[in-house]
Amino acid sequence: MSKTTLIKATGIDRYYGNSHAVKNLDLELNVGDILGFLGPNGAGKSTTMQIISGTLAPDAGQIMINGFDLVEQPTLAKQQLGYLPEQPPLYKELTVNEYLHYCAQLRNINKDSILSALDTAKQRCGLSDVGQQLINSLSKGFQQRVGIAQAIIHNPAVIILDEPTVGLDPIQIQEIRQLIIELGQHHGIILSTHILPEVQAVCNRVQIIRQGQLVFNSDMSSIEASHHNQQLELQFKHNADASLLENIAGILGVEKISEQLFSIQLCEDEDDAARAINSLLTTVIQQNWGLVRFSPGVRSLEQIFIELTTSDSNNSDQSDAGLTAKETAA
Ligand code: ADP
Repeated sequence: MSKTTLIKATGIDRYYGNSHAVKNLDLELNVGDILGFLGPNGAGKSTTMQIISGTLAPDAGQIMINGFDLVEQPTLAKQQLGYLPEQPPLYKELTVNEYLHYCAQLRNINKDSILSALDTAKQRCGLSDVGQQLINSLSKGFQQRVGIAQAIIHNPAVIILDEPTVGLDPIQIQEIRQLIIELGQHHGIILSTHILPEVQAVCNRVQIIRQGQLVFNSDMSSIEASHHNQQLELQFKHNADASLLENIAGILGVEKISEQLFSIQLCEDEDDAARAINSLLTTVIQQNWGLVRFSPGVRSLEQIFIELTTSDSNNSDQSDAGLTAKETAA
């Protein structure tokens, strides 16, 4: 395990009775990572997060947290972790200060250091002005901030956040995402979620699981860099006629996003694709549609996610995706 590796989990297995919820799963988190851990409902995300946070025992596998084995050295390993479960563990009848003080004690923070730990956590989570308020009286967004504050009270190397924005309004969601990005400058973060835009907004790496198995593992930058070649986005000033584009040789498909916005799928062959682009531009100019944008289309994480989690095949070799997909042993 290198010095930059914060979590290295290998071969995690977990059964509930006969149900195989997590299958031979590997997960790695490095310094500077905000890892999006994605999967449809029931894929095994929460089970994996509980295992990695040390709240649920795996049936097999090894989990190293910042150099400590979670099974062999649980106390030391758990000191490296802050965890916000899907249901935040809040005592709502306490004030923010009382609750965080209690969490600091649970984390064995030295008596003399508790006040500064509280101040730091509150300041980092934007809670400095609400320390005296009952948690119950706070908005859901602020309650979630308190949940995050308890996860960072002991300044852990790793923070695990399980669905941290579920149930929040759009402004609260933006605020929590911004907070996660800021925390990512000092901690490695795993963000378990099924909300794809969230991963696109805050993560630099993504892993997708399906039926307990890892089916995708990639840097976000690789996703953004790939699939520029075969897709184009065209925007016009005036309404355009998609059928004139569909008939051009080398254009495999035209998706009409609006009367003026189109996504064009080109063929794989580079020469044919180049000829198709020439014809496309000629048509656009002849028709005088007023081209205002002509850009490579980016295959979205959403498309990748849907392909990987809805296809019939369990084979995780997504070579057609052209991305770093990881085949896991069944
Ligand atoms: P996710 O978080 O991706 O929605 P979970 O980890 O909660 O998925 O669940 C993975 C699978 O394990 C699902 O089939 C779920 O029904 C099952 N499962 C989860 N928790 C339990 C449990 N305590 N007892 C039995 N089955 C469970």
